Order: sequence, then structure tokens, then C-alpha cells
Amino acid sequence: MPVSFRDRVRPLLRPGRSQRAKAEERENHRRREALHLMHGGLCAVCRERDESAARWLSYFVMESHRQEGTRARVQESAGLCPAHTRRLLAAPSSPWLMPQLLDLALTGGTRLLRTPGTRRSRCPCCTAGDDATGRATETLLCALGHPPVREGVQDGAVCLPHIAVLATRAPYEYGLQLAESASAALEEERETAWLAGTDEDARIRAALHRRIDPLLLDEERHRRRSTTSRWQADVGMDCCPLCLAEHRCARRLLKWAATTTGRGRPAREESVLCARHLHDLAATGGPNVRAVLAENRSQWGTRLDHFRTLLGQDGKERDRAGPYLRSEPRCRACAEEREAVRRQAALLTAQLRDPVRAREYGHTHGICLRHALSWPGPRPDPVQEVAEARLALLRWEIDEVLRKQAWHTRHEPKGAGTDLSLHAPTLLDGRVHTGLPAPAESPPPDPMNPPRTDIPFDRRP
Ligand SMILES: [Zn+2]
Ligand SMILES: [Zn+2]
Ligand SMILES: [Zn+2]
Ligand SMILES: [Zn+2]
Repeated sequence: MPVSFRDRVRPLLRPGRSQRAKAEERENHRRREALHLMHGGLCAVCRERDESAARWLSYFVMESHRQEGTRARVQESAGLCPAHTRRLLAAPSSPWLMPQLLDLALTGGTRLLRTPGTRRSRCPCCTAGDDATGRATETLLCALGHPPVREGVQDGAVCLPHIAVLATRAPYEYGLQLAESASAALEEERETAWLAGTDEDARIRAALHRRIDPLLLDEERHRRRSTTSRWQADVGMDCCPLCLAEHRCARRLLKWAATTTGRGRPAREESVLCARHLHDLAATGGPNVRAVLAENRSQWGTRLDHFRTLLGQDGKERDRAGPYLRSEPRCRACAEEREAVRRQAALLTAQLRDPVRAREYGHTHGICLRHALSWPGPRPDPVQEVAEARLALLRWEIDEVLRKQAWHTRHEPKGAGTDLSLHAPTLLDGRVHTGLPAPAESPPPDPMNPPRTDIPFDRRP
């Protein structure tokens, strides 16, 4: 049937109506999306981040480990971060996929070592999580004008760090409201996952950290004997001595903070911890954990109050409100880790001036690739030589395991692919085993939190 002239010109004469309808539909869609995000409970943003990272990992296992673009990105980041490497180590695909990941990590890492000034890029799996965090935050921000969305955010569907991000980016009135409700929620003593955001890796780290405890006593014993005795014990272990010092000191600090009550307990400024270390403290357990968590809540309260004061000002003062609340306070445990690495590297440098010690060092594990990359200034000759020698052998071992994965080598004995997957991280990035030598066998999947590398990847990252 022919369309009449009036029907054809009607939309042109009344464009506002159809645009309004579209805008309304968009608005409703955003609200539905925001409510859907919050439906799964704490935290809508953290969950999107973790699911997106899991999808990236799942797609890496199934497909993208063969794609040039992904391979290049994994090389640029010299492998995956410790948490995502641990996920792959515990996955059923580990025996055949880990050697391929190690190959990319070593290729990228040695290239970074040869080109000083090039920065190691962020773990691509974490980047997928960051992108999802950005999208989820945007979805919530766009729907904040809808009261049920705002109420959901305030009532515990979003963690405190993500509420803080929303408050700094929301319109003034909503920002103020979110900060006020977050301050009130601090009084309710909600769980650590609300205070610090959810952390899927926390349970896995907690099991690894318990392996450090016997070393705390060993270190004290050697320290009482002499500085050299402690140094020899540290470099004599089958792991990076800098990663060892880094994780050992954080474990000691958190155990002290968790268990010390009375006059010697941590002071206010010593109690501030980042999200990762708050989870580690909670997992450590002890009579003082509640007090340290309360101190961190109190510090958040102070920051939220100051944010509200700045928001109430004009001009430049108000502009400072967002950056102020988004800036991370200085974590005592992170500072302790940095200091331990600095002191251990200085001790290593001093010991290596003695030719006898330098020869001894030639028989040790040496520092990991991550610490070779972050070594301040030129590396002492023995440090450089040992690192190069260990990485050269690792190169051969990885090539050998990959060669044996080929069909035409099926008649040869398979060798120790699993051993390689376990011990190589101590040479590439000692954080994977929390600074310790490789465990005897692969970590069993956490029954409460199994590796999610088998989830469908229909929404490819
Ligand atoms: Zn969150
Ligand atoms: Zn990562
Ligand atoms: Zn290291
Ligand atoms: Zn920290």
C-alpha cells in the first residue's frame, strides 16, 4: 500500500517525540543493566572485573594463545601477573599450556632486559578486568539518578573502594549522598570484602603464605649468628633472594599486626593497609585483626569526611575532592616490602665485593627476571652472569618441553614438563610462589574458588 504524504512527513515535523522515546528507551535500558549488575550481591564492579578476566583466561586457553596479537601482548608484559599465573597453574590445561606461557614470558622478559628504558606492560588478563571495571562503573554512573540503583549501591551491592570511585565521578548531589551513606555504613562493621573489594586470589595466597612461617624462625636463628650466615641461608634457597625477603617481611609484619595487643600493638599510622594486604591480614587471623580493620575503617571515615568538606567548597578546592579520595593511602606492608627488597639488594651488592662470596653466589638460584628488570642502576657482574646463565638454561628447558609436545617426538620420553611449569616461575617472577621455592606439586584447585578457565567465552573480551 502506498505511504501517504502525511505519513512520510510526520516524523520530520515532530522529530522531538521520536528522539524523546529513544532517549527514554536508552535510559530504561541503562537502569535495567545497572540493576542486573547489582543483582548478584557484593560487588557489582569487582564481579564484572573478575568475570571478564576469567573470560580472557578461558579464551587464552582455548584459542588466543595461538593468536599473534595476544602472544605479542603477553610478551610485552613478560607473562601474566602472579594471580593469573597461579590460575593457569591450577587449571587442567596447565601441563601443555604453561610451557607456552613460559616461552612467551621468557622471550618478552629477555627482550625487556636488553632494551633498558622499556616498560613492562600490565598483565593483559588484568587489563581485560580493568576495561570491564570501567564499563561497569560507567553503567552504574549513568543510572545513579534512578533511586533503586542508588539505594542498591548504598546498601552493599558495591564495595567501598568502588563506591568511592562512583562518588568522585557522580554529580555533586549524588557524590555527597554516596559519601554520607558510605560513612554511615562504616559503623556497621561490614565484611572485609566490602571494605577492600573482593579478591578471588586471597584464599590461594593465604595457603601459600602459611609456607613462609617456618622461615621466619630460620631467619631469626641465622640473624643471631651473623649477617653472612643469614645471607648464605637466603641465597642458598632455590628461589629469588629478593622475592624471599619481600614476602617474608610482609608476612612477619602482618602476623605481628594481627596478633599483637596491648601497648606494643600497631599505632594508627602503622595500621593503614592496601586492599591486598587487608585481605592477607584477615586471612592471617589473630586477636588484633578486628582492631586493625577498625582502624582502616576509621581512616576511610576521615577521608570521606574530608572529601565531603572539599565538595562543599568552590572552584579549585572542589576540583581537588575527586583526586583526593581516589588517591591510595600509603600501605605500611607495601612500604615494608619495598624496603626489604632495597636492603636485600644492598646486602647482595656488598657481599659480592668479596671474591669468596661472589664465587659462592655462582652456585645459587640468583635473582628472578622481574628483579633483574627492576634493579636500580647497573647490575653487579655476578648478579648479571648468574641471571643470564639461569635464563639460558631455562630457555633450553622450555624449548625442549615444547619440542616434545610435537607429534613426531611421541616416541621420546616426555620428561618433566610439570616440574618446569612449577620451578620456572621462581626464575621469572618469584611472586607466583610468594617468594618461596616451587612446591613439590601443582596447587590443587581451591574447592571454594575453582579456576574459572572453563566458563563459556561467547562474550569474547
Ligand atoms: Zn568492588
Ligand atoms: Zn593479571
Ligand atoms: Zn625476585
Ligand atoms: Zn599493601
